[in-house]
Amino acid sequence: MSTLATKRALISLRKGDQVKVMTGKDAGKTGRVLSVNARKSTVIVEHANIIKRHTRPNPSKNIKGGIVEKEAGINVSNVMIVCGSCGKHTRIGHNRLSDGTRTRVCKRCGSVLDK
Ligand SMILES: [Zn+2]
Repeated sequence: MSTLATKRALISLRKGDQVKVMTGKDAGKTGRVLSVNARKSTVIVEHANIIKRHTRPNPSKNIKGGIVEKEAGINVSNVMIVCGSCGKHTRIGHNRLSDGTRTRVCKRCGSVLDK
């Protein structure tokens, strides 16, 4: 029996979603989701949670030394999707259309979040 599969939270966020960071040093920032890590339950949000990585130069691998700024993952529970219709951060609701396809909807205004 696999407990991992059942414990894994379902991530409703997708690449390209506009999200708002709710906690941490970048709280209040909005940005686009660059990638989703389902295993770690984190998302990479552009311009948010920037970490500075100090790298040593390695000429054989053509790596220049210095400080590289890079987005670090944020836990999905710390970001909320921004609705394109009402412009506010919202929880995601799920709707099943009559033809069986699932859509994500804004809990505030009810408009469909998937284009
Ligand atoms: Zn809305």
